[in-house]
Amino acid sequence: MATPSTDQPGKVLVTGAAGFLGSHLTDALIAKGYEVVAVDNFITGNRGNLAQLEGNPLFTFIEHDIIEPLPPAITGQHFTKIANLACPASPIDYQEKPLETMRVCAAGVDHLLALARRDGARFTHTSTSEVYGDPLEHPQRETYWGNVNSYGERSCYDEGKRFAEALIFSYRKLFKVNTGVTRIFNTYGPRMRPSDGRVMTNFIKQALAGEPITLFGDGSQTRSFCYVDDQVKGQLAMLESDFEGPVNIGNPGEFTIKQLAEKVIELTHSISKLTTAPLPSDDPKQRQPDIKVARDNLHWEPTINLEVGLQRMIESMKSNKNLA
Ligand code: UDP
Repeated sequence: MATPSTDQPGKVLVTGAAGFLGSHLTDALIAKGYEVVAVDNFITGNRGNLAQLEGNPLFTFIEHDIIEPLPPAITGQHFTKIANLACPASPIDYQEKPLETMRVCAAGVDHLLALARRDGARFTHTSTSEVYGDPLEHPQRETYWGNVNSYGERSCYDEGKRFAEALIFSYRKLFKVNTGVTRIFNTYGPRMRPSDGRVMTNFIKQALAGEPITLFGDGSQTRSFCYVDDQVKGQLAMLESDFEGPVNIGNPGEFTIKQLAEKVIELTHSISKLTTAPLPSDDPKQRQPDIKVARDNLHWEPTINLEVGLQRMIESMKSNKNLA
């Protein structure tokens, strides 16, 4: 059982803070009274995701690429916690920027771990269900070592994240850094970039436009979708504990991609029909988290089912005029 840390809200460094998940975590930390120093290089993030925090005395923003050594604006401060969410996360983004993806998982994480070591800070890292690759065990427990192609379409992300985990566990062992690793399963919600190419954004955009919904392959592959509010609660629980993980943070509700398409059509009352496109190589056939470790150690489990989360996501995309 992990012991919750007892310190008062302090100063937290959030990297990747202008991204989808990073911005929601930053909001949640500030709502809890933490002072947040938010960092992003806008490789996939968007300053608009943090617009609601401009002028808040608890919030400061520093534009920086953590692949580069950390600047004095960051190293001149003392942090009690560091949450790393910096990394392209959608397949089209990391495939377009494979070197940046691997470097942020290597040099970027190394820089943050050195800072956490110096400050005695709690350090949490967002790893991924992709460390399990195209899994041969189902559902995926943290003890499963994975089935990853080391040079395929997804390897920059999968192996990058696996390297980051190895680096983190080495810092923990060598220098006793208080580290925690979460493995995130497909998370969705407002502020996802509409053009990020992921299945949620693609399907909702297509349904709202009445265009054909593109199933890659026959749509029989599965994913388990976690609503962002649940995901952020899991991330906060991890940041506020001393649990090392790795721990799966995801919603065990598993759906085929075809079922997701049908649900999106139903909830948007769309005239869209299903169409198929080639399945990308190395696309995992099934994915579902076993969340016993999160339940036992973080007292965390998701509460928002797919139908409720989808409705919120659809409303947010409807009100977003720019779906490019
Ligand atoms: N997918 C799809 N149509 C799309 C986008 C994605 O059928 O327009 C499929 C994709 O092949 C994968 C699943 O949906 O099997 C989830 O894809 P996504 O890119 O959202 O994330 P992944 O879990 O693959 O990283």
